[in-house]
Amino acid sequence: MPRDFLKGIEDQYDVVVIGSGLGGMTSANILGRAGHRVLLLEQHYKLGGLATWFLRPGGHVFDISLHGFPHGMIKSCRRSWNRDIADGIVQLKNIRFDNPQFSLTTTFNREDFTRLLTSDFGIELGTVNEFFDTARGMNFYDDQATTTRQLFDRFFPGRDDVVRLLMEPITYANGSTLEDPAITYGIVFSNFMNKGVFIYEGGTDDLVARMKKELQSNGVDIRINCGVDRIHVEDGKVAAVETRGRRIGCRAVVSNANLRTTLLKMIGPEKLDRDYVDQAQAVRLNNSSTQVYMALKPGEEIDESSGDLFFTSTAEEFRTDLLLSRDITSRTFSFYYPRTRPTKKERYAIVSSTNANWSDWADLSEQDYEASKQDLVETTIDALEKYIPGVRDKIDRAEAATPRTFNHYTQHEMGASFGTKFEGLAVSRALPQQVGGMYHAGSVGIIMSGWLGAINYGVIVSNEVDQQLTSESQHV
Ligand SMILES: Cc1cc2nc3c(=O)[nH]c(=O)nc-3n(C[C@H](O)[C@H](O)[C@H](O)COP(=O)(O)OP(=O)(O)OC[C@H]3O[C@@H](n4cnc5c(N)ncnc54)[C@H](O)[C@@H]3O)c2cc1C
Repeated sequence: MPRDFLKGIEDQYDVVVIGSGLGGMTSANILGRAGHRVLLLEQHYKLGGLATWFLRPGGHVFDISLHGFPHGMIKSCRRSWNRDIADGIVQLKNIRFDNPQFSLTTTFNREDFTRLLTSDFGIELGTVNEFFDTARGMNFYDDQATTTRQLFDRFFPGRDDVVRLLMEPITYANGSTLEDPAITYGIVFSNFMNKGVFIYEGGTDDLVARMKKELQSNGVDIRINCGVDRIHVEDGKVAAVETRGRRIGCRAVVSNANLRTTLLKMIGPEKLDRDYVDQAQAVRLNNSSTQVYMALKPGEEIDESSGDLFFTSTAEEFRTDLLLSRDITSRTFSFYYPRTRPTKKERYAIVSSTNANWSDWADLSEQDYEASKQDLVETTIDALEKYIPGVRDKIDRAEAATPRTFNHYTQHEMGASFGTKFEGLAVSRALPQQVGGMYHAGSVGIIMSGWLGAINYGVIVSNEVDQQLTSESQHV
């Protein structure tokens, strides 16, 4: 008999959360902790969404998106999760760059960037300070017409090398480009510059296991392998969700799934205002990624001087189209030393990430797709050999993920790694005005993506859901 993944669930909940990415899990946790009856439904067989990992024989564990997030994660995790999780967050101190314009090592914070910009790049201290203060002062309500390119032109005209130093890591961190609104750059850049780059010590597997435990202790019902096909709207309000052919009633829904999928497929355009549907249809998705995962043979090591995060490029200049091209020139290597998982087998892994276009991978035949993946693996190991001679012989396993992989596991349209472009934020925020009790808390607007953005958006939305549920209870 097939397994009943919905065994034991109720017919009615206060809230159903669709999707267990960091945004969805955070919303579910806060709402469960507030005493609401919460059901978390995940279509995949494990929790975490893009915050995920996979195992391979030989004791190898690969992290997909644990490369770096800002210091703000400590406070967000302490408030929304627990002290144990927050205490697991540690700084990466060795961030490296190598490209035809410069090679340097930094702790990636304001103090060190000020040193580099003034001494290595020859920029006046006053200009550097003014740039940092301007970026720091940016917020959601600022003018959205200024682009990041215009911001850089104002402070560093003609300095492509400076733009590269300031922009390349942020493009990597949230997919933003020089053409996006400057606030999407300023907010994220300032978050990093505050104290540097951090990761979770213990690995994504440990983090998600702790989050699951916390969700359960807050009474959240969790079901995996349960994709939601439909959100039922009655009299302008959410009434139920449908999963595995079963209807589950609820007073509110938080969707952590892709914004466009939520609106145009799960709810359906006929339930929404025409103007709003037009806006939703015009929302552009952010780009996707390719990755190559390499694990060293047991007993083999990499020296810590290789760095933690290493931004490499062979492109003569910084251009977004070059960053996304299938003809790869830029690779960001994350080095995972045994300290990433101090309690596990002593293993070294390297993950190479490159931003990528869905269209370059979507229509390849199976044969071409497999060949392209193999080519990606081989060219990446060649590129790494330049920095770690002999690494090819030390590698035990190497394999690649593409935009198709991300699409397959998370159902994000076009394998988007960072949700939507900026216009997605307004559409996501306006959803409860379209359908009573319907909320979205997934990567949007560039700002609300990445580990910190997704968690913080989950917090904002859960507070709104809590207010709705509490005020409804008071009026019963
Ligand atoms: C290669 C790569 C590297 C990255 N590196 C970093 C990094 O170093 N630092 C950083 O901060 N961020 C990084 N990110 C981005 C970060 O991982 C994401 O922004 C963040 O994890 C997204 O969280 P989310 O809450 O939006 O949900 P997602 O992770 O997008 O999860 C959505 C969930 O909804 C589920 N779902 C979808 N449809 C349905 C349905 N119909 N029914 C039920 N469930 C459904 C999906 O299966 C998934 O679990 C990276 C992303 C990628 C792809």
